[in-house]
This record gives sequence, C-alpha cells and structure tokens, in this order.
Amino acid sequence: MKTISILGATGSIGQNTLKIIADNQDKFNVYALSAHHNYDKILEQARNFQPKYVVIATKALADKLQHALKSEGLETIVLFGAKALIEIARADEVDIVMAAIVGMAGLESSYAAVCAGKKVLLANKESLVAAGNIFMKAVKENGATLLPVDSEHNAIFQCLTDNQYHAKEVDKVILTASGGPFRNKALSDLESITPDEACNHPNWKMGRKISVDSSTMVNKALEVIEAYWLFNVSVDKLEVLIHPQSIVHSMVKYCDGSYIAQLGSPDMKTPIGYSLFFPERQAVNVTPLDLCATSLTFEKADFIRFRALEMVFSLLGEKDYVKSIIFNAANEVLVEAFLAEKIQYLQIIAYIEQTLAELHFSSAKTIEDVIEIDQKTRDFIKQRFLLDDVMYT
Ligand code: NAD
Ligand code: MG
Repeated sequence: MKTISILGATGSIGQNTLKIIADNQDKFNVYALSAHHNYDKILEQARNFQPKYVVIATKALADKLQHALKSEGLETIVLFGAKALIEIARADEVDIVMAAIVGMAGLESSYAAVCAGKKVLLANKESLVAAGNIFMKAVKENGATLLPVDSEHNAIFQCLTDNQYHAKEVDKVILTASGGPFRNKALSDLESITPDEACNHPNWKMGRKISVDSSTMVNKALEVIEAYWLFNVSVDKLEVLIHPQSIVHSMVKYCDGSYIAQLGSPDMKTPIGYSLFFPERQAVNVTPLDLCATSLTFEKADFIRFRALEMVFSLLGEKDYVKSIIFNAANEVLVEAFLAEKIQYLQIIAYIEQTLAELHFSSAKTIEDVIEIDQKTRDFIKQRFLLDDVMYT
C-alpha cells in the first residue's frame, strides 16, 4: 500500500490519476488532495476518497468545505493556501506525490516534495522550465525519484535505460508534437482565433492553459527545456518532429541508427499509470491502439512558423537559463490574458518575444531567486502591455 498526495487533483491530470487509483484501491491510500477554486469537484473527490487532508485556495472556501464534510460525518481536515500545499507534499506519511498543479503555482510544492526525497510524479513541467538546475540538484541531493508524467518525457524515460542516460550512444532525443489545432492554417488566419478554438485540441483533452500552449507550440518549447533538464541532454541532441497522429509519444535515436520509440493511444492514463506503478507495470483502462487503423507521419518542425521553438533552442544554446524563467512567466500571464479575451491570439507569441528582448536579470541561484524573477516578469508584462490583473479560474 502506497500513500499518495495529489496536488491539483481537480484538474485533467489529477482526475485521471484518481480514476486509476479508484481501480486500484488496494494499492493506494490517498493522504491529501488539492484544488484551487473548484469547490464542487473537490467535495465530490473528498467524499469518494476520504483523504486525511484537503487543500483549497482560500479560508472562506476551506470553512465552507470543512462544514460540508463534517455534516456528512467525514473526518477529512480542510486546509488552505500555498503553505498547506507544501505540507501535504512533504509530510512524513507520504510516499508518492503527483505534482499536477498548472503553472508556476506548482513550483514550491513540487520542489518541497523533491527536497523531502519523495517519489515525485511530475506533470507540472513549469517547475523544471523555471528552475531546472536547482530542481535537478535537489533531486540528487535528497535521493528523490523523479518520474515524468508528460507523455513525451514519459516515453523518452521508457526508451532510455538507466545506464544509457548520459551515454554517448544517444544520438538524438526526439520529441513529437501534434502541431495543435491550427497546424494547417495560414499564420494570417490566426489573428481572430478565440479561446474556445485554441482549446479545441485534435488529439488530447487537457486543461485550458496547456491547450492554448499546444496550439502556439509553447507547450513543445517548454517540453524541450523539460527534456534538457530531465535527461541531462545537450541542446544539439534535442529535436522536435511534427507527428499529427500523437501515437508515437517520443523516441530516442541511438548512434547505431536504432530508433526506440514508445507508442500508444493518446490517453494520459498510460503515462500516469506507468509512473504510479513504476518500476512495475500494471493494466490501466485505456483504449488499445489499433495500429492497422492509423498511419504514422512525421514532418520537420518549422522554426519560422513556430517562433516559440526558435526562442527556446536559442536560450538553451546560450545556456541563458534566466530567459527560461522569463519565457515561462511571460507565457503564463499572456495566456491568462488571452483566455480572458484581453489580448489577441497572435499577441501571445509577439509579446513573449518582445519581453525576452527587453527584460534582463542576473542568474537565479535559489528557488527564491526564481520566484522573484518570475514575479518581476509578470509585473513588467502587465505594465508594458497594459494588462489588468487576470486570474485563473
Ligand atoms: P488543469 O487546468 O486541468 O488543472 C490544474 C490543477 O491545478 C487544478 O486542480 C487546479 O485547481 C490547480 N490550480 C490551478 N491554479 C492553481 C494555483 N494558483 N494554486 C494551486 N492550485 C492551482 O491542468 P492540467 O491539464 O491537469 O495540467 C496540469 C499540469 O500538468 C500542467 O503543468 C500541464 O502542463 C501538465 N500536463 C498536462 C497534461 C494533460 O494532458 N492535461 C499533459 C502533460 C502535462
Ligand atoms: Mg506533453
């Protein structure tokens, strides 16, 4: 029996994690669940899984939830705020932490889990993008086990065996990308794209922020940085291929010409299940892949069209890791603004690029430095592009 905390339980990854746990109640004990503002969903999850703790954003929501749970005879204790997220991530009783909060808001809790030496299932790619070197150092120093949940990185993890990690035998680490919903649209047709159109991904059902990121290719850009840190791979060995079917989740090319790839239906329950049960494999409820019903095609990623890729390959080439904090923070604010209909679709990328050109900081040595740079970038963007405060729902 393993004891687990799920950070971001009400999101797309969190809900898929709980589906697998519901089918394996003899193997997992749910210690804590967290939500931001989704009261109804976390109430339902608390009823179904009866965790020791639940964390929600505000005191008002926590009081209301505590009252509701108590009146149903449940003993779950409701906490609130960012500090409580850290507590449920590093509690002694916890073996496994699913880090599935979206955005920089997930950094401190996933970092706390790593520092406490937990088995950390990392969906929150933004942690690694903003704080990769500090994060990976903490993994090593604290004996944590870091398992990537992102489908591409989970695939690469499956294609690399332990002793090949740093080996010269690895020629390329190839991330696949669906190309998103606008792959075949002319750039000039993208001006009037609405939030709902951007969130309508052809192959994957995901939260709204990552769906917009997939459409702009920022998601793949974040994933390039994520792979760079996770697999300690130099930037010249990283490649992105457009693969519209999302069947080959990523691959590794070896120096003898062998490609090792991981294939499967586009369903996050596969990488989530793989990381939950690691180092074993167990059945999860996914639609089996019908190889005869699909063709597999690949195209080079166009760096002129997909500016975000150009930006991250360039910052990694220069080892200018502060720029990845700026890139990530800028994107988060601008995607929020786009979802709130305060800026147009193409302004997301244009403003990120402008911010990278105009904003400079010296290097970040601690998590506190990363958080400060992230905050200063957000402040800069709001002023520079005249954005009011917007908030995730
Ligand atoms: P989502 O929007 O569906 O869920 C996000 C979760 O984080 C929710 O539980 C929400 O309540 C919580 N949250 C949001 N803001 C918060 C804040 N400020 N403080 C605390 N909690 C907060 O997102 P998702 O699609 O599940 O993605 C979660 C993470 O996993 C992201 O980092 C994303 O990039 C990554 N990821 C997702 C998928 C996918 O298929 N959904 C695939 C790969 C990676
Ligand atoms: Mg991915």
